[in-house]
Amino acid sequence: MENQTSHLEENQQDDITINNKFVLKGLTLDELKNYFSKNGEPRFRGEQIFNWMYNHLVTDFFDMANVPKVLRTKLKDSCEIMTLQHVDTQISSFNGTKKYIFETVDKYKIESVLIPEEDRVTLCISTQVGCPLDCKFCATGLMGYRKNLSAGEIFDQYVLAAKDFGKDNITNIVFMGMGEPLLNYNNSVKALEIFAQELTTGISKKKITVSTAGIAPKIRELADKNLNVKLALSLHSCFDDIRSSIMPINDKYPLHQIIDAVKYYARRTRTRITFEYIMLEGINDRNEDIEELLKVCKEFPSKINIIPFNSLKHMNPTGIAAQIRPTNKDRIDEFVQRLRENNITVMIRNTQGDDIAAACGQLAILLND
Ligand code: SAH
Repeated sequence: MENQTSHLEENQQDDITINNKFVLKGLTLDELKNYFSKNGEPRFRGEQIFNWMYNHLVTDFFDMANVPKVLRTKLKDSCEIMTLQHVDTQISSFNGTKKYIFETVDKYKIESVLIPEEDRVTLCISTQVGCPLDCKFCATGLMGYRKNLSAGEIFDQYVLAAKDFGKDNITNIVFMGMGEPLLNYNNSVKALEIFAQELTTGISKKKITVSTAGIAPKIRELADKNLNVKLALSLHSCFDDIRSSIMPINDKYPLHQIIDAVKYYARRTRTRITFEYIMLEGINDRNEDIEELLKVCKEFPSKINIIPFNSLKHMNPTGIAAQIRPTNKDRIDEFVQRLRENNITVMIRNTQGDDIAAACGQLAILLND
């Protein structure tokens, strides 16, 4: 297998073509305006195409009613809109959670998960094929890294899910699927910029969340971008030695660096940070873990999302990954109560879609799929 650590540096992607056609999906509003003005068209064409692609979610240039027919034909010959194909859907028999399998043009499969709840419908999208971080509790980590998704491939997960479930029905977008968004920084930010644009009507910035394992310098960079989307940090332990043993990236960016970065993010964007915390028996569910969590949470506006550990059995894990066990329900309740007694906002995330391996951390396409 190729060296996975080389992918821990974020890398840039050049202009993308499909079958020699230039891919427009993934270009931001400014990029689209520049593209059309470079090609001898008025800049407002960029705004029109933006609106068709990202608001009306059209997949064919011929549906772009206010674009002159000659230009539509020209675009059809030289440009491409869709970057993904919908190949399969699995539906959880418990709660209707849907796992979509999409395929990129270069034949990689990726997964997105749609989670209908009482008061919201969340679409969880992927930013990479696989993941280089190797977190010991995560199926995507066990699968290894394949490639970064382009901004178009990130956005098209929403397009295809919206075609299936209805655009207006999707209320929240979370970058919590396969991959580490901040290691595919440029493409993730471009996709966020597109989601957060006023012209892409429907989803407010408050309903868009990026989840990261803690790439400290990129958290600061994202704060400075002024996108003001919400940030979730996969914390999972407040002790460096324990965190490093389950999340190797902690050796590169230890806790004090990450906490400083998220503090900066909270201040700069005036948003509340969410700490994600998977409950792992004997690893991070002890009384001293509660004490440390309290100290971290009291430093700045934050809340904790407690996540029951979802099994990785479908991946046949070995080593540490095979030894990880979920904390039992009584202890989770006790842990949560102690935090709440100290005025910390704590949510317990329901396990969604375990029966179709669509729950948090279960996303992985096996090599022989
Ligand atoms: N790379 C990003 C986003 C993907 S993971 C990140 O690390 O945040 C999305 C969330 O699922 C994270 O909080 C992650 O820690 C959690 N997760 C991973 N594996 C899990 C598992 N087996 N059970 C429950 N949650 C898991």
